[in-house]
Amino acid sequence: MSGNRYQLSDIFQCVRCGFCCHGETTVSLDEKDQARMIRVLGLSPEETRRRYWRITGSVVQMKIQDGHCIFYDGEAGCTVHAGRPWRCRQWPLHPSMLHDAANYQAITASCPGFNKDIGYDLFCRILQACLESTEGGDQGI
Ligand code: SF4
Ligand code: SF4
Repeated sequence: MSGNRYQLSDIFQCVRCGFCCHGETTVSLDEKDQARMIRVLGLSPEETRRRYWRITGSVVQMKIQDGHCIFYDGEAGCTVHAGRPWRCRQWPLHPSMLHDAANYQAITASCPGFNKDIGYDLFCRILQACLESTEGGDQGI
């Protein structure tokens, strides 16, 4: 905290545990996500699809490898950081936490980066301010 002005780091600092990149599925990529990832990887759309995406009907997700997103590396974290989907950029500061204390509890229970010493009301005030600034849209690994 600096003076009376709260910052994103007062409520959250990613500890790079990688938990949010693990599991049997990943977030889905919308069309902008797909275009950004293709651009950042510098591959053709076909090659990007073949190597990195799992496509189920109209749903595009990243492939899973060894129980985590194919782009996750235990040392480096997200290896497609500049090209990661918007849902990865937003996580874990999901705006739904502002209106749903149960969701806040669930998300903070799964992510060790939250400052749990700050109560829910103050957390919401700080998150709201961060989301209204440019700070709130790009965190995590
Ligand atoms: S966002 Fe949370 S769960 Fe994901 S790597 Fe950072 S601290 Fe871990
Ligand atoms: S794209 Fe990056 S941040 Fe998103 S799940 Fe994969 S490794 Fe994690």
